[in-house]
Amino acid sequence: MEEQVRSVIARFIAESPLARFAESGEPYFDEPLVGFAAADDPLFADYKRIIGPFHRTPDEVLLGVFGPEYRAATVISWVLPITLAVRMSNRPETRFPSRAWALARNFGEQCNAALRRHLTGWLEEQGHKAVAPQLTSSWQEFADTPVGIASTWSERHAAYAAGLGTFSLNDALITPKGIAHRCGSVVTDLRLTPTPRTSPHFRHNCLYYREGTCGACIARCPVDALSREGHNKNACRAFVYGTAVDAVAARYGVTATGCGLCQTGVPCEGRIPPGARRD
Ligand code: SF4
Ligand code: SF4
Repeated sequence: MEEQVRSVIARFIAESPLARFAESGEPYFDEPLVGFAAADDPLFADYKRIIGPFHRTPDEVLLGVFGPEYRAATVISWVLPITLAVRMSNRPETRFPSRAWALARNFGEQCNAALRRHLTGWLEEQGHKAVAPQLTSSWQEFADTPVGIASTWSERHAAYAAGLGTFSLNDALITPKGIAHRCGSVVTDLRLTPTPRTSPHFRHNCLYYREGTCGACIARCPVDALSREGHNKNACRAFVYGTAVDAVAARYGVTATGCGLCQTGVPCEGRIPPGARRD
């Protein structure tokens, strides 16, 4: 069943017109990475402490839609790696995202939402309960928490739980296909074998945390939202959802532009950076 789920996700990204630039037919994404986390993995309870008490467990997600008689068994998580062509278009940018990056962010995320609905529908056809946490009407974002902007479900944290990568200095997730990606998840009562988390540390894939080196993303940020102390989420958000949108969204024909400067032109852009050490 694990392989069937993987292939449903991969096929959608390979075949859906939503996964391609309207003008060229070129894809936004490379082949997805897919992982599974057990719904009763203690990490999800830990997230209430790490992110905030408002962050939902998989059971709470399922219960919120179907009631208490259903228990969550698995979180299916995926990473949609942004193609080399789109990443390359953003490398020379120093202030605002490239047009291709913004289109991939705007329409690629619409494709990601469609994938969430597609997988949920497919699981229901197989006789299972399934919910995409980010598409529920109760999904909420909170602007002012002790960890900055946070929500009732973090796709990055679901992907970490599902063994798909580790966190980085700029608060993203570095996967075997790099840091430039979109991610998503679905909670289901279908039991699947969890994907092992093999990294020795939750920030292992980032050279700054692994070896005390790199920091290339810091210099890429146009608004100094990154430093050796980490990521200023509020400054980043003001730029990504305010300044950048005001500057280029209308010209590009999108409503969301993203930014991605700290995810392109950096050693972790498309892979886990090797660094000097081999541990
Ligand atoms: S650019 Fe370097 S420091 Fe920044 S997230 Fe990537 S590996 Fe970590
Ligand atoms: S996404 Fe843009 S604004 Fe936010 S930290 Fe990265 S480079 Fe800075």
